[in-house]
Amino acid sequence: MYEGGVGIPATKSDRFDVRMIVAAVQRAAGTPDGMLALHEPVFAGNEITYLEQCIKSTFVSSVGKFVDRFESMLEQVTGARRAIAVVNGTAALHACFRLAGVQPGDEVISPALTFIATTNAIAYCGASPHFVDSSLRTLGMDAQALGERLDAIAQRSATGATNRETGRRIAAIAPMHTFGHPVDMDAITAIAAHWNIPVVEDAAESLGSTYRGHAVGSQARLAALSFNGNKIVTTGGGGAILTNDEELGQRAKHITTTAKLPHKWAFVHDEIGFNYRLPNLNAALGCAQLEQLDGFLTSKRRLAVAYDRAFAGVPGVAFVREPEGTTSNYWLNTILLDEAHADRRDAALTALNDSGFGARPAWTLMHRLPMFTACPRGDLRVAESIERRLINLPSSASIQAHDD
Ligand SMILES: *Cc1c(COP(=O)(O)O)cnc(C)c1O
Repeated sequence: MYEGGVGIPATKSDRFDVRMIVAAVQRAAGTPDGMLALHEPVFAGNEITYLEQCIKSTFVSSVGKFVDRFESMLEQVTGARRAIAVVNGTAALHACFRLAGVQPGDEVISPALTFIATTNAIAYCGASPHFVDSSLRTLGMDAQALGERLDAIAQRSATGATNRETGRRIAAIAPMHTFGHPVDMDAITAIAAHWNIPVVEDAAESLGSTYRGHAVGSQARLAALSFNGNKIVTTGGGGAILTNDEELGQRAKHITTTAKLPHKWAFVHDEIGFNYRLPNLNAALGCAQLEQLDGFLTSKRRLAVAYDRAFAGVPGVAFVREPEGTTSNYWLNTILLDEAHADRRDAALTALNDSGFGARPAWTLMHRLPMFTACPRGDLRVAESIERRLINLPSSASIQAHDD
């Protein structure tokens, strides 16, 4: 069986006190003057210059040189062969699932512990999510739980794998790199290859993270990024599809730009495409933001180290470190209360927010939401445990880490 809560002391610490959590955050991040947001953007580079250039060019909409430049910068930063900029991360995921061949009536294996976008994008294809458990180590899809679930319910078919219980085709596996911590891609990819199921990575939170020395997304057949205002770099709203497959890259560009055939003046479209184009105005902001990515990563790592140190002596609380063999972008810093103190999570959240720290709980697990309660799922006890005891801490790149 997979880890299932191993390593989490179930015994209560007499010394557990939410005030020690607030004090630890204060030690690492300083005492806020007002409210310290969970994550706010930093505009300290060429943002205004590029936006002004963009406006003066009159190319503010769906084509322009900033879109092309943003896409090549993304290819450089991630090492992916092709990057296709789109209007947001959810649209990137929707297009990725389409490109992976997800059809109405299919199932897509995804974690219950994720942001709604992963699950919604599956549903937009007319497919059903099929939830599997998460790992305590990565907070993402647990490879062993995935393998055990497929062994229990899947059978090989001409087109890959089918769920024996529902009769539906399992069309994709969609891991998500939670808060920037890379999932165990080698193990997940091996299981996916064994069953002949394509992998779509939700890398919305993990730009700048690496797995075994490679940028997250650089090895992907299909991965989705997000540049929403709360992500590590922002275009206001935006996203991108990453792929190492040139042909898929061309398909991705085609279906996200209304599937128009290239022609000087004629409007001919050869399939039902999407208007998922990222406006040039947003791409201009993105170029300025990507120039600062290394600096953001450095300052976020410094803050993570400070949190790690500050929580070292706090009873009943563990700081979540990057998984072995990876570097996390530490998009959102995370602590887990011991299971025995899970009933104090809301008290901790209240105390942190009352002290000016914009701390937040985990997302409500997907299988609890009314649209998805009837979806197939495996045992979700680790995800449910994480949900009970997780707290995200203020993590902006603008926070000056205090290391005593
Ligand atoms: C932010 C995010 C997305 C995409 O969100 P958009 O707001 O549509 O850009 C997708 N998945 C996860 C896990 C995210 O955190």
